[in-house]
Amino acid sequence: MTKYVYTFGGKTAEGNASMKNELGGKGANLAEMCLLKLPVPAGLTITTECCTAYYQNNCQLPAGLMDEVHAGMKNMEKLMGMKYGDPDNPLLVSCRSGARKSMPGMMDTVLNIGLCSKTIPGLIKKTGENKRFVYDSYRRLIMMYADVVMEKAEGIEPADGKGIRKQLDDMLDAFKEKKGYKSDTELKWEELKQLAEDFKVRIKEVLGTEFPDDAEAQLEGGIKAVFKSWNGKKAVSYRRIEGIPDDWGTAVNVQTMVFGNMGENSATGVAFTRDPATGDNKFYGEWLINAQGEDVVAGIRTPNPLNNDTKNDQNAHLKSMEELMPETYKELFEIRNILEDHYKDMLDIEFTIQEGTLYMLQCRVGKRTGRAAVKMALDMHHDNWIDEKEAVLRVPADKIIELILPILDPNIEKQHKALAKGLPAGPGGSVGRIALTSEKAMEYKSKKVANILVREETNPEDVEGMRAANGILTARGGMTSHAALVARGWGKSCIVGCSDVHIDFDKKEVKIGGKTFKEGDIISLNGTLGAVYDVEMPLIIPEIEKDPLYQEFMGYVDKYRKMGVRTNADNPKDAANAVRFGAEGIGLFRIEHMFYGEDGQEPLKILRNMILTDTTEERKKALNELEPYMKEAAKGTLKVMNGKPLTFRLMDPPLHEFVPKVEEKEKVTALAKERGMDEKELVRRIEALHEVNPMMGLRGVRLGIVYPEITETQFRALFQATAELMKEGNDPHLEIMVPLTINVKELEHQKAIADRVKAEVEAKFGVEISYMYGTMIEIPRATLVADKIAKLAQFFSFGTNDLTQMTFGFSRDDVNKIVKEYTKEGIIPADPFNTLDQEGVGQLVKLGVERGRSERANLKCGVCGEHGGDPESVKFFYKTGMTYVSCSPFRVPVARVAAAQAAIEEERGC
Ligand code: PEP
Ligand code: MG
Repeated sequence: MTKYVYTFGGKTAEGNASMKNELGGKGANLAEMCLLKLPVPAGLTITTECCTAYYQNNCQLPAGLMDEVHAGMKNMEKLMGMKYGDPDNPLLVSCRSGARKSMPGMMDTVLNIGLCSKTIPGLIKKTGENKRFVYDSYRRLIMMYADVVMEKAEGIEPADGKGIRKQLDDMLDAFKEKKGYKSDTELKWEELKQLAEDFKVRIKEVLGTEFPDDAEAQLEGGIKAVFKSWNGKKAVSYRRIEGIPDDWGTAVNVQTMVFGNMGENSATGVAFTRDPATGDNKFYGEWLINAQGEDVVAGIRTPNPLNNDTKNDQNAHLKSMEELMPETYKELFEIRNILEDHYKDMLDIEFTIQEGTLYMLQCRVGKRTGRAAVKMALDMHHDNWIDEKEAVLRVPADKIIELILPILDPNIEKQHKALAKGLPAGPGGSVGRIALTSEKAMEYKSKKVANILVREETNPEDVEGMRAANGILTARGGMTSHAALVARGWGKSCIVGCSDVHIDFDKKEVKIGGKTFKEGDIISLNGTLGAVYDVEMPLIIPEIEKDPLYQEFMGYVDKYRKMGVRTNADNPKDAANAVRFGAEGIGLFRIEHMFYGEDGQEPLKILRNMILTDTTEERKKALNELEPYMKEAAKGTLKVMNGKPLTFRLMDPPLHEFVPKVEEKEKVTALAKERGMDEKELVRRIEALHEVNPMMGLRGVRLGIVYPEITETQFRALFQATAELMKEGNDPHLEIMVPLTINVKELEHQKAIADRVKAEVEAKFGVEISYMYGTMIEIPRATLVADKIAKLAQFFSFGTNDLTQMTFGFSRDDVNKIVKEYTKEGIIPADPFNTLDQEGVGQLVKLGVERGRSERANLKCGVCGEHGGDPESVKFFYKTGMTYVSCSPFRVPVARVAAAQAAIEEERGC
């Protein structure tokens, strides 16, 4: 029979830290802490496999599971000297989720399970008549259980603000207000008891069922609810974003409750063994006296600092644990050292102090900012804990971007006073329009409008909005709150616990530091300092050249990296920036970008002349006028890349993209006027360009075959730019590639033009031009006949955007809706335009490289689709033997780290 339950406690355990896949991160680490002889309340872990079985079994617990749970509970009872459901000496438990990969706050937890009318008197007696504690625990159980087990797990979706938890919270707040209480701790036991009764009545009214007054029913309900929360809305959203597979499932940890709410010598806290924002080697945490764990992370009360190092503007007036409980703090500090020494990493820990006794409830490798990740990896390397390669593996490739990401311009920032200050939860700067709801943030994002999500408190339901926002600002919550953890994980600039933020949802307004803003007004955040400004500040790029952390780390990255990294750039500024970020060449220069933006107006006019003409003569005339612009565009960037290769792609897009659509009447009229042309005639010519499927139409090399004069102009511009640069003492390395190729004949056709034009230019300038001639591979057919194509092509560049489009038959411009539904339904694991579809498109890429190299062994192969900057895809490309990947300038360091990690992982056989 499958073993579903693993016990831990009494300084021993059936599992260990290596069993994350089976026990989830939390369960595996609880077991490991027991093996390290740390004080962990006894418990049991139900495996992730059981969760999968539960779902396969139509949401029924597998037969025999509860028997195994009961056997495990016996072990807990023995170790803890209490009995579950016993009227005299009751044991209470918590039910917590725990997936393989941490999903902070995304799944559900129920505490104090086992409290019912049968066990309440026994607990009161056992705690020396501590009725306040017992009824406080009871009302908490009712609130959580109603929310998690009776509402969410039942799939009930209440209207906004009408959820049972919200209703019960409102009742609690109303009661406190009536009594003039500021904090929950002022509530008396009789009041808590009454509240618990009132809660039960409300639950029956709202949900139609009774809160179960039976320990056994509560236990089973708790376990099922945690399994159900794996498929809860926020967990599913988080999985989509993080790419966590649906079939992993969550484990359930049933653990003896220890209580931080038993009075003034009890407490609960969350800590990081080092500062997760900066990486400094300082024990960093927050705690609350007389509270349960949820209070710290939910941001209901401002937590106290753990020690002096953790004091900040918000909590400096509150006493630290170091001051109030020096002995227990010392013990916790020693545990911190034991854990770091054992795991050789920064850990995120949860603890509870019950009447002076310290218990460890969780430890896991802690989420951190990109800068902190680099700092810790280097510090641990300097301390000889980890070697250079391990240091490289310690920084998720995506995170390196935080070290180069924009910050508020310090010169402008110092001229302004911060409107309000909060906790610096996620570093970096952000500027954008205020969004008061997740929906608004998503709407802004879809319109490409920078936005700051401003919320009352940190709420994991907001995960999609948080993702869509450029920055996050919350009124409540501490550095360990959900928003802070998630934002940090994503490298978002984030400020939490900014008590000067007051939102009025009805008016769609927010007061920040006394000033009223409407939704849509612009603010700026400095997430490194926690400062909010009412000014639209410019963002600037940090000086990585002067950043010793970045330099040392990237030095190790390049030491172990074997695959090249280039950039996609088509102007001198982007090219120079990319070189700063380590680009070793340009993998894709899209010439059509010269027609965009302000500088593009003049050449665009000429291009339109070329497009809208009926005769070859007029087309040639327009092309002659265009040639100097093209030459300058290529020359400027070739000059910046001096000595480094630049891959120039011949014009690719369908021509109709450069003229207005017929239905855009105003634009058509304006264009007719500008050109001095009859509007009807213009409409006729635009219509002549119309294609039903333009992405599969007259674009790419087909343009150059139908209109060879377009190709000729480009070759001439390129060879002239090269010749001029050579004459001026530069070292241009030109590579020319043909887009959208389907066979070698197309390449031959274009090459004949290139040969002719090159000879002419060489004769004119008296120089010998060398260049490489290659092709993009972006149509499935090209991968299949890659050996034939490689007879002429000296290099391949895989255009995985089009290759994905053509392989899936998904229009890359319209697919969002379909992808959203497909990923939601689990039909495809992720958006294939972001992360390469390794099992389909990836196999074509592999085949293309293999077939190409079977003909030309030294064939240079690169990738220039968006996937070239996605870490998972980069690791795949490395395995296919790619010579380089090419990505946008800001992704260059990401691709470098991913490429180095791929090489190290290969060496380690992973
Ligand atoms: C591609 O198709 O992957 C590519 C890089 O070309 P474009 O995105 O310009 O079509
Ligand atoms: Mg393409």
